[in-house]
Amino acid sequence: MLRKSSDIVRYCYQRAAECRERALRANDSALKDTMVVAEDSWITLAHSYELTETLSNFGAELRRYLRSVSHMPACPQCGRPMRMVTTTPAASFINAQQARFDCICGYSECRLIDDKN
Ligand SMILES: [Zn+2]
Repeated sequence: MLRKSSDIVRYCYQRAAECRERALRANDSALKDTMVVAEDSWITLAHSYELTETLSNFGAELRRYLRSVSHMPACPQCGRPMRMVTTTPAASFINAQQARFDCICGYSECRLIDDKN
């Protein structure tokens, strides 16, 4: 059973390649035409899954960015908003991230933040 999008894309390209091979070997022009259309359809489907995966990745990145912007604490030394520079899963908490914040003044600290979307 195919689960990951990359597996589905790979499957589509494999089927497209099979259709191409069958088209190249076909003696019947109608069968050749059918296999060429089938190849195009598999490629189009692969592209569709690739686009969906790209949009999904973009959405995840956008959610991470918006989460980072909403978690900009004020620097305790100068009062400016600090920028989140790294996040790693928190070892002791579910649905939490360990985030490092840096300030332009040089101050840096780590905080736990929620892992909500
Ligand atoms: Zn500062």
